[in-house]
Amino acid sequence: MPKDVIASNNVNKGVSVRKAKFLENTALFRCPICKNEMGARDFKSIVCLKGHCFDIARTGYVNFLQRADKTGYDEGLFYSRNIVSESGLFDPMLRCISGMISSKVTKSSGKSAMILDAGCGEGSQLGKIINDLHSSGIGKVQGVGIDISKEGITMASKAHFGIIWCVADLTNFPLMNEQFDVIINILSPSNYEEFARVLKDDGILIKVVPGNSYLKELRDIFYGEANKREYSNQKVIDNYRRNFRVLDIQTVKYNKVVDKNELSHIIAMTPLSWTVTHEKIAQAYDAGIDRITADFTIIKGAKKGR
Ligand SMILES: [Zn+2]
Repeated sequence: MPKDVIASNNVNKGVSVRKAKFLENTALFRCPICKNEMGARDFKSIVCLKGHCFDIARTGYVNFLQRADKTGYDEGLFYSRNIVSESGLFDPMLRCISGMISSKVTKSSGKSAMILDAGCGEGSQLGKIINDLHSSGIGKVQGVGIDISKEGITMASKAHFGIIWCVADLTNFPLMNEQFDVIINILSPSNYEEFARVLKDDGILIKVVPGNSYLKELRDIFYGEANKREYSNQKVIDNYRRNFRVLDIQTVKYNKVVDKNELSHIIAMTPLSWTVTHEKIAQAYDAGIDRITADFTIIKGAKKGR
C-alpha cells in the first residue's frame, strides 16, 4: 500500500483535512474481520489485504461495525451528555486524568503520544483532555476515540477536529497491537484483554468509575429511603486489579451548582433514569435540586508483569 505517497499528497489532492487525518494513520488499524493490516484506497476508504473495505465518512470517522448495534444510547442522550460536559460537570475529573497523562507523556520523546478513549461517547471528554494537554505544552499528542454508537461518533467527528474517531466494538478493536501510550476508559465498560493488546508494554490504563456519592441527589429520589445503602464500586476495582497492576487510585469529589435546564440534561444522560418510572423522574425535576454531587474514582494501572 502506498501509505507514504498518500500521506504527503493528500492536501494537494483536495482530500479534506478530516479524512487526511485518517489516511495518514492507516498503519494504526487492523481489519476487524480478518485482522490483517490496512491501507488507504482512493483517498476515501481504508481497506485490508483481503479487500475488506470501510469508507471514511464525510465528517472524518470510520464505521468498522458489520451491522448497527442497538446501544440504548440515542442522539438525544448524547446531546444531553454533551451539554452537561460543556457545562463543566466533569472538568475536575478530566483535569486529574490530564495530570496523570502529562506525567507519563513528558517522559516519551519524539513521536506523538497516542491516547485512546475506549467508549468515548460523543467525544467531549477526550476533546477536553486533548485540549488540556495541548495547552499545557507537553508536546505532540494524537487522540483516538472509539465507541459502539454511530450517533455518538458522528457528533464527536463534527465537533472535534484532529482526533481520529471510529465506530467499533470494544471486544474487537480495529487496531494493531501495542499502539497506545495511554488508554482512558471513562464511566464505560472495559475489555481488559483488548486494552492489554493495543496498549504499549510501558503504557498506562486510566479507568474512571463512579464513586459512592456520584449523582446521589438523583439516586436518593429514584431509589428512595429503602435503597439509600451506598453504591459500591469495589467489584469494578477488584476486576481491574485482576487484569492490570494498579499504580494509583485517586478520588475526585465535588459539588456543582446546577439550574433547572442543566438538571434536566443530567437526568436525560444518566443510565440511572432508564430503569425508573416517569413519576420518579418528574419528582426529581420538582425536588428543587440546585447542586449535584460529582464523585469519581480514577484508577491508573500498567500491564501485569511490567
Ligand atoms: Zn480484512
